[in-house]
Amino acid sequence: MNIKEKDSQYVAHTYARFPLEIVKGEGSLLWDDEGKEYIDMGSGIAVSALGSCDAGWIAAVEQQLHRVQHTSNLFYTAPQAELAEQLCKRTGMKKVFFGNSGAEANECAIKVARKYAAEKKGADYYTIITLENSFHGRTLATLAATGQEVFHRDFLPLMPGFSYAPANDLEAVKTLCKEQKIAAIMIETVQGEGGVLPLTAEFCQGLQRIAKEQDILLIVDEVQTGNGRTGMLYGYMNFGLNPDLVTTAKGLGGGLPIGACLLGERVEEVLTPGSHGSTFGGNPIAAAGAVHILSRIDDQMLSEVKEKSAYLMERFKDAEGIRSVSGMGLMLGLETERPAGEIVDRCRELGVLVLKAKEKVRLLPPLNIPMDLLEKAADAILQAAKGE
Ligand SMILES: *Cc1c(COP(=O)(O)O)cnc(C)c1O
Repeated sequence: MNIKEKDSQYVAHTYARFPLEIVKGEGSLLWDDEGKEYIDMGSGIAVSALGSCDAGWIAAVEQQLHRVQHTSNLFYTAPQAELAEQLCKRTGMKKVFFGNSGAEANECAIKVARKYAAEKKGADYYTIITLENSFHGRTLATLAATGQEVFHRDFLPLMPGFSYAPANDLEAVKTLCKEQKIAAIMIETVQGEGGVLPLTAEFCQGLQRIAKEQDILLIVDEVQTGNGRTGMLYGYMNFGLNPDLVTTAKGLGGGLPIGACLLGERVEEVLTPGSHGSTFGGNPIAAAGAVHILSRIDDQMLSEVKEKSAYLMERFKDAEGIRSVSGMGLMLGLETERPAGEIVDRCRELGVLVLKAKEKVRLLPPLNIPMDLLEKAADAILQAAKGE
């Protein structure tokens, strides 16, 4: 059996995979099992922030591999404490809980919100408002948080305690806050899986006001938008927000699994010994890599992300076959005249790997992709959009 047959026989069929086995990566390039080269415009869904096999990240991970690979959270380890310090210093948040994925980071935020509201306002204040078309993960709680019915089907009954409001509809949120007992409001500043749709600044600031006035927590899911992706360290920084909880994962580990739930001042003492935990969370190897990744996402890198974003916007705006461009930084969605799936397939033939989000072509290249590769990728995408 070849790899594709073996995978199909033995791996659960949860993914519609591209017909492609990736065997090697270097920076923003990937190679398949036949030696064909591709420009990586997906970063493994916004995970490989510095592309594949970045030398500095490898050195940080390798150094820790030779020290100790795992201790459990019964002991102190330096990489976890250092990563927490860096995350707090660069965001103004106060404490960090580490898990291993985006869904776990969101689970933590949901638990913190419930505990905070129960202690402060009463046990019936457990409802969290999330937005229609959002995506927060696949576990039962984060599935319920996700405001898209397609993901709910087959897994009912949903966990109670979530109410949905249309994105950018402040009145709808206000009504829910009046009619229900609300613990928190949870948003993605750019809805990624929902089609790369940024929220409006007005809506975000309105949510912030409501949250302050009514002692409701503001949770920002930065699993995809975080770690430099939007041109700021975290997406909420584009909107001048001051969230109580920030969750992140994907790009933070640069390819190794790690998730983090950042706790602001109002909630920094909510979690107490025994109230939450994770065996692998904040694993020293993943954390050592993440410390390096964060150190590389500096002002210089962030301004490069903005420049590359502006370049892509300029190339795609009003281009033949492209109806609109949405998103921020290096998280862009293209609404195309031809079906997105066709463009994804054609780009792959042309040696460029792009993704889909809903009916859009989604671009999530490594933050440090060199300009010449970005230009080549844009050429191929424009060619595919024209149907050539
Ligand atoms: C990917 C994603 C998640 C889920 O992350 P996992 O690591 O797959 O659990 C949650 N929220 C957002 C916004 C995401 O993009």
